[in-house]
Amino acid sequence: MASSSVIAEIDRALARRNRGPNVSASKKKKRNYLLQPAYRQISLPEIYESSEQELNAFLERIRWNGLGAGMQACPKCGSIDEHYRCPSIGGWKCKGCAKQFTVLSGTRLHGMKMPVKVFLSIAMLFMEAKDGKSSRELSGDHGLDHQTVHVLTLKIREALRETLSAEEPLRGYIQADAAYFMKYVRPGNVGTGAALAAKAVQKNAGLNEEDKPSPVVNASMHALVVFVQAGPQGKRRYRMGLVKTENQVDLLTLSQQFCDKDSVLVTDQHSAYNLFSGEFVDLQRVNHNQEFQTKDGVNTNLAENIFSRIRAAVHGAWHRMSVQNLLEYGWEVAWRQEMVGKNNLFQLEDLLRRLMTSGRPTRFVDYWCKRPEDLRPPKEEIGEIREVPKADVSKKRGRPTKGSARPQKPVSADGKAARVPAEARAA
Ligand SMILES: [Zn+2]
Repeated sequence: MASSSVIAEIDRALARRNRGPNVSASKKKKRNYLLQPAYRQISLPEIYESSEQELNAFLERIRWNGLGAGMQACPKCGSIDEHYRCPSIGGWKCKGCAKQFTVLSGTRLHGMKMPVKVFLSIAMLFMEAKDGKSSRELSGDHGLDHQTVHVLTLKIREALRETLSAEEPLRGYIQADAAYFMKYVRPGNVGTGAALAAKAVQKNAGLNEEDKPSPVVNASMHALVVFVQAGPQGKRRYRMGLVKTENQVDLLTLSQQFCDKDSVLVTDQHSAYNLFSGEFVDLQRVNHNQEFQTKDGVNTNLAENIFSRIRAAVHGAWHRMSVQNLLEYGWEVAWRQEMVGKNNLFQLEDLLRRLMTSGRPTRFVDYWCKRPEDLRPPKEEIGEIREVPKADVSKKRGRPTKGSARPQKPVSADGKAARVPAEARAA
C-alpha cells in the first residue's frame, strides 16, 4: 500500500537523522552550487554579443524544441510544419491557414516591442537575482519606462504561478506554514514636544486626521501559505496560497489542491490546521511555543525558510507590494527555491519555457498585448482580490429595539425619498 510505504520511508529518513552527525565523513566542505564554475553556463556579455537571429533561434528552440528541428506550430490553427519563412516580420506564414506569426505570437510576450536582446537581458538579471530584483532597477538598467518592466516582471511571475500550480501535487513528507505580509500601518503625524503634549489633551486625542481611531492592522494584510515537499536540496517542491487569515476551510481547500492524500503533513499548533487530520496519512505538529523541532526531528524549517527569503526580497528589492500581486511574488520565490542546485542556463531556459509555452496572460492582458475586447477574460475573473461595490452591501441594521420603529418618510414631490411601506412590499 502506497501510504504505508510513505510512512516507512519517512521513518527511515528520521532514523538517519537521529543517528546524529556522521563523524567519519570527510571534513571537506562542499562549496555552494552558486560558487561552482559549473553553475556559470551563460552570461550577460554572451547575450549582448549574440546577433538578433541567434537570440531568436534560442527562443525558437525553447518554444518548439519538442517538435523537431526547423518545425513550428502555428499559434492560430495549431498545424505543425516547416512553415514559410516571412522575413518582413522575422517570422513565418502558416502553410495551413496563411496566418503570419513570430516566435512571440500567442505567448505571454505577444506584441512585445522591446528588442529580444533587451528582453533576454532582463530575464537573465531577473533569474540571477536570488533575493529578488526591483522593476525600478531593471528599468534604469535598460532605459525603459518603469511600467513597461513592472508589467513584464508581473507577466513572468504570473507564468511561474500558473505553470507551477498546474504541476502534479506534492507527496511524501510535506511541511505547511503561513506568514502574514503587508502588516505595516503608517503612524499618523502626531508631532513632538509641545505639539504632542497639546494633542494629548485636546478633544480628539487618540484619533487620526479623519477623526477615527488609528487602525491597528493594515487592511491589506494577507497571509501567504506555503506547502513544501521535503527532500534533498534541489528536489524540494513548493506551492503557494493566499488567505486573508489562517482559517480551517481555506487551509483545507489549499491542502487538498496542492497535496496528495498519501502524504504526511507537518504544521505548527495553529488550530487552523486541525482539519488536516484524517485528510492525510498522518498529521504531525510542532508546538512552537515550546520547541522549534520535536525530539523526532520534525520541524517546519523549510516553510519558515521561504518566508525569510520573501521578507529579504521585500526589504532589499521590492520595497512595495500590493495585495493584488502578493501571491505572484510568493510564487516567484517558490520558483527560485525549486531552482536551487541547477546551473544558470537551466534556470534561464526553465523561466523562458514557462513564459513561452503557457499561452497568453490572463491578468495583464491590456498591456502591450492588444487583444480584442471580446477575447479578453471577463473583468471579474482578472485578479485574486475582488471588491464588492459598497452600494451592493446591505446596511446592517440589527434587531429593532422596543419603541424604535422608524417613522415613515413622507413621499416628496420628486419621489426620491419615497419608501414603500413593509406591508405594501409583502403584498
Ligand atoms: Zn495556421
